[in-house]
Amino acid sequence: MSKERFEELRRQLDAVNQDILEVLNRRAELVQEIGQLKSGKGTERFDPIREKEMLDKLVAANEGPFPNDTIRHLFKQIFQASLGLQEEEKKSLLISRKNQAADTVVQVGNLKIGGGNAPAIIGGPCSVETVDQMNAVASHLSQEGVLLLRGGAYKPRTSPYDFQGLGVEGLKILSETAKKYGMTCVSEIVRPEDVEMSCEYLDVIQIGARNMQNFELLKEAGSVKKPILLKRGLSATIEELLYAAEYIASRGNSQIILCERGIRTYEKATRNTLDISAVPILKQESHLPVVVDISHSTGRKDIMFPIAKAALAVGADGLIIETHNEPAVALSDAKQQLDLNQFSTLLNQLRESGYLKDAVK
Ligand code: PEP
Ligand code: MN
Repeated sequence: MSKERFEELRRQLDAVNQDILEVLNRRAELVQEIGQLKSGKGTERFDPIREKEMLDKLVAANEGPFPNDTIRHLFKQIFQASLGLQEEEKKSLLISRKNQAADTVVQVGNLKIGGGNAPAIIGGPCSVETVDQMNAVASHLSQEGVLLLRGGAYKPRTSPYDFQGLGVEGLKILSETAKKYGMTCVSEIVRPEDVEMSCEYLDVIQIGARNMQNFELLKEAGSVKKPILLKRGLSATIEELLYAAEYIASRGNSQIILCERGIRTYEKATRNTLDISAVPILKQESHLPVVVDISHSTGRKDIMFPIAKAALAVGADGLIIETHNEPAVALSDAKQQLDLNQFSTLLNQLRESGYLKDAVK
């Protein structure tokens, strides 16, 4: 064979490759369109009968030189890749970065959470106990520049004999205290039927770790126009947390703040094990802001500063710090709550080490 002929055949082969590429991608576009129609109707994407029909037609039309088995094998590969394309699309959740590249910024009053804004500091006691207690905590925190006040009114306690929270009375005290000091407030709601009622009092609705997969609660949270602080379940994977957030987003509420609050492991030195790698992974996978609860994750006060620094260093958009005016007599989580001086010391340490930017005064 002459060198010229050889070169000519290679050129032709290159051209055919280009044609195959074009045709394959045209086929992929059709498959995508069919996939979208199927998802609208809830039809299963893999259709073995249709696949067999297509293969039979191709084999019947095959004039070689490829034998029928090779044609079957090659087309099965193409079908497989097409199915993969549809699966990819299915996985693109509303809360996924694939769906939205820009960070979601959740605005609560004047506080902007996420999107590279200064870290949000969420402070306040584990439980709302009395008006005096809330005044003491809020007056101190507001002077420190904290804008978002926390306090539990419905407490999911391990023992039924422990303090269960003040219920709606607690929400009222929290809300009035926050207003008095120019703050906004967040509290946990545990029952779907309380979500709407709580909107009257709360600026952010918290879904706690124990309720991360309470799907009826998630759906209800998705139907209101309030930001939701969604905490990671005690034994939930990162993927499960993301799907829980998707429940809320799928109902029309995309104002969601994710919270890493530690997970159950065999380690006993801390109350839970703070999964620090969850923060950058969540931020990579999702456009939602991520905060770290440094109190419930550790359950101890002596490592607050290094843990807070670690959380902010890996990209957390904020911190939750349980703070009480008299932790020793707190009705819940007495061991882990900072007193007011300890809270100020922690903030000063963070300010001095440059971790807070202009987050707080
Ligand atoms: C809380 O923040 O009050 C709380 C109970 O935390 P978690 O749901 O993370 O245990
Ligand atoms: Mn607590």
